[in-house]
Amino acid sequence: MVDLHGQYLKIKSEIDSSIQNVIDSCAFINGPAVKDFTQHLSDYLGGCHVVTCANGTDALQIALMALDLKSGDEVIVPAFTYVASAEVIGLLNLTPVMVDVDYTTFNISIEALANAITPKTKAIIPVHLFGQSCDMEPLLDIAKQHGLYVIEDNAQAIGAEYTFSDGHKAKTGTMGTIGCTSFFPSKNLGCYGDGGALFTNDDALSERIQMIANHGQKIKYHHSVIGCNSRLDTMQAAILDVKLKHLDEYCAARYTAAQYYTHAIKQIDPSERLFVTPVEATYSTHVYHQYTLKIKSSHRDKLKEYLTKNGIPSMIYYPLPLQEQEAFKPISHAGSNLMVAKQCADSVLSLPIHTELNIEIQNLVIEQLSHFCSQCL
Ligand SMILES: *Cc1c(COP(=O)(O)O)cnc(C)c1O
Repeated sequence: MVDLHGQYLKIKSEIDSSIQNVIDSCAFINGPAVKDFTQHLSDYLGGCHVVTCANGTDALQIALMALDLKSGDEVIVPAFTYVASAEVIGLLNLTPVMVDVDYTTFNISIEALANAITPKTKAIIPVHLFGQSCDMEPLLDIAKQHGLYVIEDNAQAIGAEYTFSDGHKAKTGTMGTIGCTSFFPSKNLGCYGDGGALFTNDDALSERIQMIANHGQKIKYHHSVIGCNSRLDTMQAAILDVKLKHLDEYCAARYTAAQYYTHAIKQIDPSERLFVTPVEATYSTHVYHQYTLKIKSSHRDKLKEYLTKNGIPSMIYYPLPLQEQEAFKPISHAGSNLMVAKQCADSVLSLPIHTELNIEIQNLVIEQLSHFCSQCL
């Protein structure tokens, strides 16, 4: 599904020397590379504050901790997402309110979101799933109208760009109250371990986030709020600082590979009797963290099995919508009909996509899809 080794080999000397620098300096925690990377990421994103932390899940948790929320407040989250987006809501004794997604983009349905708002609603967590931005303009309008915080889960879409109706553009993660991302190795900007970051344009909030991630202290040993210990270590920051320079090129490589798949799959199955290829929304670029097909007529599991038998890896992101996760049954409630989330969980199949994918490998995948298709139809 990924080729982290091939990607490493292309930048090996740069990475190796930056790791060696960290070891030579022995500044393993909060070393200079953390500050450098933070500054470079801020520049890349257009100048927002960046606070690094230990992983993407911590970023989401710290974001919620930084806002004035109290037990029982409702936080809206899409029902079709990775568990982390909703887990932190429950962890902080807030109430996850699950809403349905759009079948075309997999992202939060604006209509379902609007209908799920109650007097207890305090925040929305839109997730830019698979590498494409949610439709942020109407979402931000709704949030403004109801005084809600917006925490963007940007773990899968760093580098993607949203275009507003007046033509101005913004990077995903920089449009809401707070943006969160993950540097998990397989993410589009991944390190060689765990890492995460928060983004905000609000000066005071940035200070508060920094304080919470550092034991609730601004002055050493003076703790003004309950925080946590969540740091990006220097070695990971040094690796990320090298990889950030390649992020746009990585996104472009993923995009090229996605176009190749889509073109070929549309030739195999022009009327989408079996395969529905990813749809690119007009308002967002797509950085293809995943290349996710929808497989029609309950053939998904058979296709997955067929591909596995023929040496082609594929993954189901995600097999269960939130409403079917046992952990959430006692704490969450449905803010809308969650049919589409269920339909997505039942039909999605993600194909291998990464920066090192080449046409020869893609052709092997396409060949098997083609065989399966002719057997089925
Ligand atoms: C990966 C991911 C996270 C969590 O990131 P970690 O660094 O693994 O904690 C959160 N949300 C989404 C959508 C993700 O894909």
